[in-house]
Amino acid sequence: MTAAHLKYLAGYPENLVDQVRACLGDGSLGERLLRRYPQPHTVRNDGALYDYVSGLKASRLKNAPPLSKVVWDGKLASLRNALGTHTRVARVQGGKLRTRREIRIADVFREAPPEFLAMIVAHELAHLKEPDHDKAFYQLCCHIEPAYHQLEFDVRAWLCWVEAGGAALWGAAGANPAP
Ligand SMILES: [Zn+2]
Repeated sequence: MTAAHLKYLAGYPENLVDQVRACLGDGSLGERLLRRYPQPHTVRNDGALYDYVSGLKASRLKNAPPLSKVVWDGKLASLRNALGTHTRVARVQGGKLRTRREIRIADVFREAPPEFLAMIVAHELAHLKEPDHDKAFYQLCCHIEPAYHQLEFDVRAWLCWVEAGGAALWGAAGANPAP
């Protein structure tokens, strides 16, 4: 487990990155994450994910445009770039311009605690209204998920653990794959 695995924490204060580096080094990061986030979520298939995202959108982002599609995405190269994506495709349909909005969540989040799923979904929902990673965007993320900043940091620390080859933390115990 080398410093190269800390790329997800680029931009965070050095003392925080050092803490994660130390916990990766002595292998304790996994159990620390498990202690803080003991349970996996139960959002197993695309239908459940759509319902989950729609529910959060309805309660926290009432006037956002409707979503055409929400899916788990096994092809998202989550560990290299995006954790989720949002796309907006405008099509002319019956003489009218219609916009299809899709959210895809990287498969790595299937076996994760509910807090981590809430973070990545808040991120992609916020992009429905704010395209850039600017102040307005993060304010919206925090409106949708009040613990957003702490969760994003913990998610990034977890991704460092995953990429460093750390054991699956929530998969084995909570796995109950959809048919
Ligand atoms: Zn983003």
